[in-house]
Amino acid sequence: MRVIVIGGGVIGLAVGWRCAQRGTDVTVIDPEPGGKASGVAAGLLPPSGDMLLGRPEFARLVLHSRALYPAFAAEVAQAAGTSVGFLRNGILDVAYDAQAAQGLERLRQMADDFGIDYRMLSPEDCRRLEPRLAPEAYVGMLSPADGSIDPRMLTRGLLAALHNAGGRVVRERAEQVMLDDATPAVRLSGGEVLRGDRLVLAAGPWTHLLPGLPAGLVPEIRPYKGHVVRLHGEAVVGHTVRGSYGDRSVYIAPRADGELAIGATYEDAGYDEQVLADGVADLLERVRRIVPSTARLRFVGAAAGLRPGSPDGLPILGVTAREDVLLATGHYRVGIQLTPATAEAMAEAVVTGELPQIASPFSAARFAATPA
Ligand SMILES: Cc1cc2nc3c(=O)[nH]c(=O)nc-3n(C[C@H](O)[C@H](O)[C@H](O)COP(=O)(O)OP(=O)(O)OC[C@H]3O[C@@H](n4cnc5c(N)ncnc54)[C@H](O)[C@@H]3O)c2cc1C
Repeated sequence: MRVIVIGGGVIGLAVGWRCAQRGTDVTVIDPEPGGKASGVAAGLLPPSGDMLLGRPEFARLVLHSRALYPAFAAEVAQAAGTSVGFLRNGILDVAYDAQAAQGLERLRQMADDFGIDYRMLSPEDCRRLEPRLAPEAYVGMLSPADGSIDPRMLTRGLLAALHNAGGRVVRERAEQVMLDDATPAVRLSGGEVLRGDRLVLAAGPWTHLLPGLPAGLVPEIRPYKGHVVRLHGEAVVGHTVRGSYGDRSVYIAPRADGELAIGATYEDAGYDEQVLADGVADLLERVRRIVPSTARLRFVGAAAGLRPGSPDGLPILGVTAREDVLLATGHYRVGIQLTPATAEAMAEAVVTGELPQIASPFSAARFAATPA
């Protein structure tokens, strides 16, 4: 079976790799694999978050992916022969006022509901765990089994793993999707036409804009911009930290090499991917509020990316109204967290036409409209 994947972010690459492992002939098309949101994300892998509230099926999918992560990361690292920067250093949530403490209470309830291991912490406990935290914490919560991954290392690992499993990456743009014949085809920016038995669309917020798609086959995927800042220097925190005050929050993901990824802003700014001074200043101010000594760290860089948001904010997976065209997009704020579960589910859907049960609530069929 020939599988063409358009989009080489973490989602397209991981889906391609898992499909190649199942004996299919995989080609991933992307002019800059890992160059969009997947190369920008901080890579937090939290067990819970506000977007899971009241969405038990989504929470189950996220927790399934979380459970897959340690073996997935080890397998990519082994297949690629390189580390993917997976760290289980514990996630420490710290609330700095009463409003933020209410948010933490919601996370605590969610952890109870889903049997997630956690410990509530007094302000003194927080400072004992992380002495550089600003002193006026209200309350903290530690999820000891969680942490982060470096999405750029993961992308590089997935590229190598895909290559070693026999897949190929074509560094060109998919210029035109061609669905007039019995099997789908794609015209590349260089003019070549690739034909496959299955076509997986994983082009993030550009998925529905791919030229040649019949109207109604792919729902609109909206871009939600975010900035991330990277600092380097003395290790100011050992845990992955999420700090919040009022309705503002910031997270800090320390990497093994001493870098800190600080995230993330959230903006509804269309397809603008520019790094803006405002976004950078906002993050630096927020992180200084939580860990004042970050002000003395070296500024390495900043990046902005677009989170792919589906109409209901949930991932869109599996076959469309046309059975040989599949979708893997809409991962919004948790695409890194959902990479292992998405790859597993999509490989199943590519090979059998069916999503595994845990992923079936996210089937593309929920947006089915008769293609024009
Ligand atoms: C600031 C920020 C922070 C984030 N933090 C986290 C986090 O801590 N944890 C987490 O789980 N998630 C996080 N996310 C979300 C996560 O990054 C995304 O959900 C995930 O990267 C989406 O991956 P993707 O492969 O679907 O999309 P993308 O990474 O956008 O990849 C899509 C690919 O499609 C390609 N493409 C587009 N058009 C074409 C075409 N015509 N032909 C060929 N290729 C094409 C692009 O070049 C791109 O490489 C964050 C996102 C942002 C922006």
